Amino acid sequence: MRILKQEIYFPIIIAIHFLFWAIDLYFYQGTFMEISSDTLFFGEMTNASWKNIHRILGEVFSSWVVTVFAFNFLMATRAKWVERIFGGLDKMYLIHRRSGIIAVFLLLAHFIIVPRDLTAFNPGKPLGFYAFVLILIGVLLSAAPIFKRKIPYHKWINIHKLMGIFYVMGVLHGLMVNSLIKELPITRIYVFGMSFIGIAAWVYRAFLFNLFNKKYHYQITAVNDLGYQITEVLMKPVKKELNYLAGQFAFFKFPAIDKREQHPFTISSHPYENTLRITVKGLGDYTDDLANKLKVGDTAHIEGAYGHFSSSYIKESDQIWIAGGIGITPFLSLAKDIHPNKVHLYWCVNKPEEAVYLDELKELARKNPNFQFTIWASTASGYLSADQLETNHYLSTGYLICGPKALKDNLTKQLMRKGVDRDHIYDEEFAFR
Ligand SMILES: Cc1cc2nc3c(=O)[nH]c(=O)nc-3n(C[C@H](O)[C@H](O)[C@H](O)COP(=O)(O)OP(=O)(O)OC[C@H]3O[C@@H](n4cnc5c(N)ncnc54)[C@H](O)[C@@H]3O)c2cc1C
Repeated sequence: MRILKQEIYFPIIIAIHFLFWAIDLYFYQGTFMEISSDTLFFGEMTNASWKNIHRILGEVFSSWVVTVFAFNFLMATRAKWVERIFGGLDKMYLIHRRSGIIAVFLLLAHFIIVPRDLTAFNPGKPLGFYAFVLILIGVLLSAAPIFKRKIPYHKWINIHKLMGIFYVMGVLHGLMVNSLIKELPITRIYVFGMSFIGIAAWVYRAFLFNLFNKKYHYQITAVNDLGYQITEVLMKPVKKELNYLAGQFAFFKFPAIDKREQHPFTISSHPYENTLRITVKGLGDYTDDLANKLKVGDTAHIEGAYGHFSSSYIKESDQIWIAGGIGITPFLSLAKDIHPNKVHLYWCVNKPEEAVYLDELKELARKNPNFQFTIWASTASGYLSADQLETNHYLSTGYLICGPKALKDNLTKQLMRKGVDRDHIYDEEFAFR
C-alpha cells in the first residue's frame, strides 16, 4: 500500500519542522546573538537577539534542506521498506526528483536570508558556500531537461552520485558555524540525526550497495527481434530464481553489452512460467539494436524485483488497462493473473501491425472470459479518450495506465474530469530521471 503520496509527503516534512522549531523556540532561554553579522540583502546586524526573523527563517530553511536530502539518499538505497512507503520505486524516484528541486530553492532561501557571523574566520563558512554552489550545479545537471537530453544516463548517474559529497560538505558547514540549531535540543538532535541517516544512506548506496544487494544470475535462452525496434529476451536462472509478482520490473545488467550499466525493464512473463522474459523497445544507445547485441548463452545479472503495479496492490475487481506502445509489458504478465477480476485492455499503437503480441493476447482472451482487449490504432481512430472506454460504472472501475507520459497525463485528466477518484488510477513510470 502506498502510504506517502507526494501530496502529503512535503506537508508532513513541513509540519514536523514547524513542530520541532516551535517547541524549541518556545522554551529557549539562551542568549544566542548576532554580535556582528551580515546578510546578503538585508544589511548588517549588530548585537541583534536570536529573535530576529532572518536568523530563525534562515536556519529553518537549512534544516529543511538537510531533511529533504536525507530522505532522498534513503530513497536511493532502493530498500524494500522505503519502496513500500512510497508505493513503488517509480513513484519514489518521482518524489526524489521533485524533492531535489525543492531543496535547491530552500537552500537558496537559506543562503539569502541567514545572517553570516563576521566576528572571526571559520572554515565552515567557505565550506558552506562551496557546498551550496556544488549542490546547485548538481541539481541543475540532474533535473534540467537540456542536460537530460545531452548527458547519457550512465554518465549522468556517476555525476549524480557526487551529491553525497556535497551533502557531507553542507553538514560539516552546519557543524562548524555558529547556529541557533546547535542551541535547540530537539531541533539539534533531529537535524544532525537526519544528517547522519542521509550520509549513512549515501555511503551505503555509493560503496556498499553492490556488496549487499543480491543479484540473480540468468542465462539468455532466446533473443527474438519482433520488428518495430522491439526485442524480446528470454532467460533461465543459472542457480536461484528471481521472485517477482506479475507486473513488477527489475534491473538488468548484460555484461555482453556493458559490465557496469544496469537498466530497468518490466518482466513480461508470468511468475508461474519457467522462462523469464523482457520486451525492450530500442529508445537509446543501450536498447537500440538489442537483438544484435545479445545472443543465446550470454549472461544477465538481475536485481529486483520492484514496483507496485501489480494485482496485490489493486483493489478494484473491474479494471480497465491502458497500454501505450511498449507500455504493454506489465499487462502481458498481469493478463495471466486476473482471476477473478474483469478486465478490458486497450493497447494503443500507431498502426495495427505494431501490436506484436496480438496472438498472445488473443490466446489469453480465448482462455479467460474475464479478459478482453482492444487494439487501438491511432492512425485509424485517433488518440484514445476516456469517453471511448467501455464501462458503465466509471467511478468504481480501477484504471491501470502504462505508456508515454502524454497518454498517461491526458487520460488521467479526462478520467478525473469524469469524477474518477485519483486513487482508482494506477500508473507506472517508465523513467526515473
Ligand atoms: C520501471 C520501469 C520499467 C521499464 N520497463 C520497460 C520495458 O518493459 N520495456 C522497455 O522497452 N523499456 C522499459 N523501460 C524503459 C527503459 O528502462 C529505458 O528505455 C532504457 O533504460 C533506455 O536506455 P537507453 O540507454 O537505450 O536510452 P537513453 O536514451 O540513454 O535513455 C532514455 C531514458 O531512459 C532512462 N534510462 C536510461 N538508462 C537508464 C538506467 N540505467 N536506469 C534507469 N533509467 C534509465 C532515462 O530516463 C533516460 O533519459 C522501463 C523503465 C522503467 C523506469
